[in-house]
Amino acid sequence: MIHRRAVTTHVHGTAARIGWFLLYLEALLVPLALTWLSLGPQELNLGEAVAMSLGLVAFSALVVAVILPARVSPLIAAFGIETILRIHRSIAKAAVVLVWLHLVAVLMEDPRGFAIFDLAHTTWAARAATCSTVALFLMVGLAITRSRRQPRYEGWRLVHNALAWIVLLTAWLHVWWLRHLISKPLLAAWFFGTGLLVAALTVRRWLWLPLRARRRSYLLEEVRREPGDGVTLTIRADRHHGVPFNAGQFAWLKFGSTAFVFEEHPFSITSTAVRPHLKQFTIKALGDFTELLSALRPGRRVFLDGPYGGFTIEGHNGASGFIMIAAGVGITPMLSMLRTLADRRDCRRHWLIVAARTVEELMLRPEIEEVRNRLNLKVVEVISKPGPDWIGETGRISGDLLARYLPRNPGRLNYFLCGPAPMVHAVSHDLAARGIPLRRIHTERFGAV
Ligand SMILES: Cc1cc2nc3c(=O)[nH]c(=O)nc-3n(C[C@H](O)[C@H](O)[C@H](O)COP(=O)(O)OP(=O)(O)OC[C@H]3O[C@@H](n4cnc5c(N)ncnc54)[C@H](O)[C@@H]3O)c2cc1C
Repeated sequence: MIHRRAVTTHVHGTAARIGWFLLYLEALLVPLALTWLSLGPQELNLGEAVAMSLGLVAFSALVVAVILPARVSPLIAAFGIETILRIHRSIAKAAVVLVWLHLVAVLMEDPRGFAIFDLAHTTWAARAATCSTVALFLMVGLAITRSRRQPRYEGWRLVHNALAWIVLLTAWLHVWWLRHLISKPLLAAWFFGTGLLVAALTVRRWLWLPLRARRRSYLLEEVRREPGDGVTLTIRADRHHGVPFNAGQFAWLKFGSTAFVFEEHPFSITSTAVRPHLKQFTIKALGDFTELLSALRPGRRVFLDGPYGGFTIEGHNGASGFIMIAAGVGITPMLSMLRTLADRRDCRRHWLIVAARTVEELMLRPEIEEVRNRLNLKVVEVISKPGPDWIGETGRISGDLLARYLPRNPGRLNYFLCGPAPMVHAVSHDLAARGIPLRRIHTERFGAV
């Protein structure tokens, strides 16, 4: 089995800090420094230099915004998928502002003024820029109104990706047709380098990853209904040893005759990392894809893109124990961690605090009971809408409840939180208030996409 180096989902880790630094460096300083080195003061006046610098930084920000969600494993492991997407959105917003400023600067500087938008008579460089800007503003408009319009996720994703590629390609062509930048060797190297990087990541994302998933496909072995609108899928590696993963990680799942189908959804693996050839996923029916899963027949071919994520117990060998706090279907990565610990005969003390609205909605109870018998594990169930027979904890996971069950001296314990964003946020806050260092608090939110 492969044990990868530990990573946390928090942006406080060293890898994350270096990642942030490199991203900003690439986005901001590199193109500016190269422009400065390449162009002498006599080549541009101040207005032209400002317009060009804004354009280059905007282009660079667009490249970073496209690279971030391109499924680069170390990046997802270092930041966590939710942080990656948050940075992606912030950088995209910054790019929009920079494009606006670039446009204003060009209009102030270019003697042709608004005539550059006359597509019939303007240059190819200006046509490409107009196309890129329109696609960018359209993309941002659709993203901003998404929560109000509630489009089908797959349709939205398709349009978003298509527009992103139009924005980047036409921005690239704009610089290419302007010519004066790529005539400078340093700027040309940066420009072609970024183009090549994006092209390579695109080929990897849309060709190599599906091909790899096809080579290491799985067959659906069992479909088991779970209480509370859930289903557990068991899949077995088809003629390979199973893709190794770290307990707590997730993968994108696809069903169909080919690994190139567009529809795919991320789910945490719930089975033990000790037997990667046999994987399980427990999935709650929430929408059009997840509602269909209980009707699947064993024998279906399943393609997996993954594993991804840094929400894992691996690498915390110095930890004195793990405290896992989950709500609803957020129990899934925890079960994988607990099963893995049990299979490794881990003898440290662990805690699992799990919350649901009703007892019926508590997921995977028999499986948790099974690992509890094999581990030194304290399980606390918290029900927010209890029936008359419930004698356990009620309400929400609060600072008060944590104080009653968790050890007073946190020592070298590590905390894993998974569930709806408000719960993760509130409990992280409670833990921080108890003096737990942020680097020991690891979080995953399923609804962050
Ligand atoms: C890292 C991670 C791990 C997850 N693990 C689990 C798990 O173990 N069990 C479980 O039940 N759920 C899990 N989820 C949530 C699960 O991915 C969504 O519930 C599922 O994709 C919903 O799809 P749908 O078409 O049925 O619902 P829809 O109504 O179409 O979607 C509901 C919401 O789910 C999200 N979503 C939908 N499709 C995708 C997609 N292709 N990629 C990313 N997000 C999407 C969007 O936010 C969307 O608004 C996880 C999510 C993430 C990000």
